[in-house]
Amino acid sequence: MEGDEKRVLFKGGLVYQHDGDVHHPRLADIMVAGNKILKIGSDLPEGGAEVIDVRDHLIVPGMINAHYHSHDTLCRGLFEEMPLEYWLLYTLPMGANRTKEEVRLRTLVGALESMRCGITTVQDMLGLIPLTEEYLDVVVDAYHEIGERVIFSPMVFDIPAIGMIRSRDELPDNIQKMLGTEALDAKSQLDFLDHQMKRRPASGLLNWAIGPFAPQRCTPNLIEGCADLADAHDLGVYIHTYETRAQILMAREKYGAYDGSFIRYMQAHGLLNHRLNIAHSVWLSREEMDLMAAADAGAVLCHNSNMKLKSGVSPILDMRAAGMRVGLGCDNCSGSDVQNMFQAMKSYCMLAAISDPLPGDNLSHEALKNATLGGARTALLHEELGALKEGYKADFMTIDMKDVAWLPFNSAARQLVYTETGRSIDNVVIDGRLVIRDKECTTINEEDLRSEVEDLMTSFIPEFENVRASREEALPHMLKAHNNVWSTHIGLRRFIARTNYGDGDL
Ligand SMILES: [Zn+2]
Repeated sequence: MEGDEKRVLFKGGLVYQHDGDVHHPRLADIMVAGNKILKIGSDLPEGGAEVIDVRDHLIVPGMINAHYHSHDTLCRGLFEEMPLEYWLLYTLPMGANRTKEEVRLRTLVGALESMRCGITTVQDMLGLIPLTEEYLDVVVDAYHEIGERVIFSPMVFDIPAIGMIRSRDELPDNIQKMLGTEALDAKSQLDFLDHQMKRRPASGLLNWAIGPFAPQRCTPNLIEGCADLADAHDLGVYIHTYETRAQILMAREKYGAYDGSFIRYMQAHGLLNHRLNIAHSVWLSREEMDLMAAADAGAVLCHNSNMKLKSGVSPILDMRAAGMRVGLGCDNCSGSDVQNMFQAMKSYCMLAAISDPLPGDNLSHEALKNATLGGARTALLHEELGALKEGYKADFMTIDMKDVAWLPFNSAARQLVYTETGRSIDNVVIDGRLVIRDKECTTINEEDLRSEVEDLMTSFIPEFENVRASREEALPHMLKAHNNVWSTHIGLRRFIARTNYGDGDL
């Protein structure tokens, strides 16, 4: 009954609305009833609601991190920058076959960091190995425990991890095994997901999505099965595509039947439509952007991980010109080492700026829209998430404008994107619930989490050091394969290149 729902009145803040004045938002109250925004307006009557005074605060829609993996949150800070294919050598084993307690803790750590930074929804494209009901329950229950909204897509694949290497024959057998040579069955994974989505239907904080790992790790059979499953459950699809230069070479060399294009491969097998979101899309060609835009398919850009993992810079301005829709993501915790959409928004604007020397568009508002509504759209949730509007879910943060980042206050959009780091966030509301209140997490005991994680790390780190040492022998082989990738001409530039590198095609 609506009348029985708990009401909270956020009184006297500046309410950031995408279609309002994005530089000087209007002063208004927000009445939350249950999990939704009931009303936004001036001097709303209290009517028995709990009142929270948010004078001198900016109220901002919750960020939606549209590409994230909770499986490596314990690996933050373990790596300097390195190419993605190298990084996989270390991170794949540290994310698979863990204890249930570790899976719970790593999920909570990532969710807590996200919440504290105003990310009210994560798209968790989880590499859950083993993919079993009891492990899946651990993850979903952890999100409920802490109160973070999740768009959950356990990853599926039926081509082993070695399939991510352009020419596996360049690597000795034992090095191939390090990356992973075990194939899984497509049908049993699809049946499992179908069953789980019926057993734990989307409600409250839980939303589902379909997560085929990458085109090069999915047979046509699995791609078609994912497309059917997404249709049957009316869901978004997320798939890593064209993250590295090796991947576009793979498409050109091995997918000749599809014009050497992963986009056409997905198109031929029913996946290229309004549900599709490709994560990264660094090495997407202009022709493929047009195909994507025509299908209303989108990209989730993860610039900071693409830079740290030496993948390159995604062609933002070309995607804009093609009319592609865009969401933003922070990706792995050991691939950019922070869940912070302020950094993602800033990189979006900065990399767009450095992609064209001529005066351009004003991007700050666009970055904010991509980080909120654009992310919601990736999961077809843009009618309920991503904006401060009556009837939308009550997912938002309050920014304390007494922080020096807001001295002086000249523009909400520009200072959110270029100045704010997350430091000024003092309240976070998810599904109508204050999960961070006056900078305190209200849902879990942070000290308990800290001591449990610290205990766990006493065995995690020695195990990681063993993995690191065992990978030494792979490095010369990886370097050779990597040099081959970079000495092949492909006619696309995605790097801010050193002079005189390779064939000048960077
Ligand atoms: Zn990813």
